[in-house]
Amino acid sequence: MGTRPKKRFSQNFLADKNIARKMVELLELNPGERVMEIGSGRGTLTELIAEYKVNLATFEIDHQLIDNLNKKFGANSRVTIVNEDFLGVNPDEYFEGAFKLIGNIPYDITSPLLDWIIRHRDRIDRAVLTTQRELGERIASGPGSRNWAPISVFCQCHFDVKIELTISPKAFYPPPKVNSCTLSFSPHEGYRISDWDNFEGVVRGAFFHRRKQLVNNLAQLGGMAKEEIKGILSELGLNENVRAEAVSIQEFIKLAEKIKTAKSS
Ligand code: SAH
Repeated sequence: MGTRPKKRFSQNFLADKNIARKMVELLELNPGERVMEIGSGRGTLTELIAEYKVNLATFEIDHQLIDNLNKKFGANSRVTIVNEDFLGVNPDEYFEGAFKLIGNIPYDITSPLLDWIIRHRDRIDRAVLTTQRELGERIASGPGSRNWAPISVFCQCHFDVKIELTISPKAFYPPPKVNSCTLSFSPHEGYRISDWDNFEGVVRGAFFHRRKQLVNNLAQLGGMAKEEIKGILSELGLNENVRAEAVSIQEFIKLAEKIKTAKSS
């Protein structure tokens, strides 16, 4: 197997074949489809994905793992092994059109990776990601939950996110300190957001101090008086004491539009 697992690359390799198989099944692959894998590691998922006769580009940052991967998959013309940081990858260099995404991903890159996914949302057919359980629960949570956060809003604007599996540390070698879970992302067309930057600013602002009322957080963004914001909330049928935790995506969208109009008038 070559080198020892490295902490700095969050190398926790899947040791449980059943879980690996379930993860790949969740990707719902058909022959000929295009797949990107984040963090090939020792090739556990790679091998199972390749069985579906898809076109696979698999990315591994640790050059010491590449020899072994080349030995395993070098003869398979459908598998491309790339020694690069996935976060810098431009999908256009590998595939035209839509692709699926899978990874048992290092915890420390989850946030930038979700940004990557949102940036490339129009190309992503489906994604299956295993991550730290707490973070997974946050991403998949809904309004009214204490986990509801900007990251949940942004992901769920474009994808239905579901917790598919919860995984104990024992399934990995070496075992991580925390539990993990596998999420599926399926794209939906549910929302129309005309000005993403404005929307993102309002949502981030709304959650700035989680315990504060929405009106106080939004007033801090500047440009609007509290009374004016309260007026907008009541137009939307929201209580003036509401906190961001209770606000749905549809309500955030309307809120962002009304704030934009109010500020520009
Ligand atoms: N998919 C394998 C490996 C999981 S461990 C399995 O399930 O067993 C996570 C892997 O991601 C490690 O091999 C690590 O070296 C790699 N990795 C970490 N950061 C990365 C990055 N930014 N880009 C690509 N690979 C990365």
